[in-house]
Amino acid sequence: MPSIPLPKDLRINAARFLADFEALAAIGSTQDGGVNRPALSEAHLQSRVWFRERAERAGLVVSVDGAGSHFARLACGQNPERSLLLGSHLDSVPMGGRFDGALGVAAALEVLETVREAGLHLPVDLEAVDFTDEEGTLVGLLGSAALANHLQPAEIQNPRGGRQRLLDGLQRAGLSEAGLFQAGRDPASLAGYLELHIEQGPRLERKGIPVGVVTAIVGIVSYRLVFEGRANHAGTTPMDERCDAGLGAAGFMLAARQLVVQSFPECVVNVGALKLEPGAFNIVPGRAELALEFRSADQQTLDQLQQALLALAEREARAAGLSVTVVFLGRHEPAPMHPAMRQAIGRAAADLGLVTLDLPSGAGHDGQSLANLCPTGMIFIPSQAGISHSPHEFSAWHDCVNGVNLLLQAALNFNP
Ligand SMILES: [Zn+2]
Repeated sequence: MPSIPLPKDLRINAARFLADFEALAAIGSTQDGGVNRPALSEAHLQSRVWFRERAERAGLVVSVDGAGSHFARLACGQNPERSLLLGSHLDSVPMGGRFDGALGVAAALEVLETVREAGLHLPVDLEAVDFTDEEGTLVGLLGSAALANHLQPAEIQNPRGGRQRLLDGLQRAGLSEAGLFQAGRDPASLAGYLELHIEQGPRLERKGIPVGVVTAIVGIVSYRLVFEGRANHAGTTPMDERCDAGLGAAGFMLAARQLVVQSFPECVVNVGALKLEPGAFNIVPGRAELALEFRSADQQTLDQLQQALLALAEREARAAGLSVTVVFLGRHEPAPMHPAMRQAIGRAAADLGLVTLDLPSGAGHDGQSLANLCPTGMIFIPSQAGISHSPHEFSAWHDCVNGVNLLLQAALNFNP
């Protein structure tokens, strides 16, 4: 008679996981090996049909909340009122890669099926989750924010992907605007949230380390800056008599980069859009509008960086004889990962003989929404050349399998 493995020796079924991963990669697949599954598009909804069928085949109970997030529950808990959530998202950026999000959802289903087959009884139930619109083609972190009761009506009125696109998506999915605000979940029902994801950066690969234990998810602040000078004839206005708004914007962009490189080495800054007006070859720009975003994993540092960047905008404007208007657009606070979850991951990695690196996540994730509700943790595996949000996104298969085994063992290790 085969002996029953100790929970510590339990491993996932890698062949079954590969089949699931490939089935998902085929839904909305593009010719260059990526996937195109923007939130609530036909392809995305098709991937959710797959989720439901796959979960039901594994003997899990599927439910869908008012934001369309899909849950598959394994009733393995001594306390069936609470569950540990494992998951990620099946939506992709437009023309994205096959690993971002899908890896974590397929992994969660595989972990639940492995636990069910082994007949383990755990302190709480396990739930695999596929959150709606993590990527922000509609709103961003939509499903997790709705679950956490963080969703602001203004975000739905004026979503980053456009209002009509959101309404069309909701209709396609059989969802409603009112339903989004009824997806809030009782925090008492959540024992924790744990997500496996690709790193989307080059740090693990460069160091040759197979696993990242996320310390915090970065906070993100965005502003619109408007430099104003005086539009004038580009041929007849002497160089030293111009109030060139474009020059102020350019000066700010260069100085902001230098500030972050020199004084905020753990942070990043980006000017992702720049509009000069009137916008002609032969007119000195009278107005320059730029989209500023900066990130830090530490709240105090984020405050200091914000102060420094806004002071810099004033300084650059004055130096170029311009005025500057600062419009605050939004702030997501940094979300530290829970020590108990980090420990559970660390212990499991040691058991599996996997070296780990502690690192912050420079990208946003659903864990940001969950971190205030319940102990939240994230596991990263290496991304080849750090490429992500691209069809060329790739992670080695053995790293993926290591990651799923680590997700399994961390879930078993976590003491809710
Ligand atoms: Zn993702």
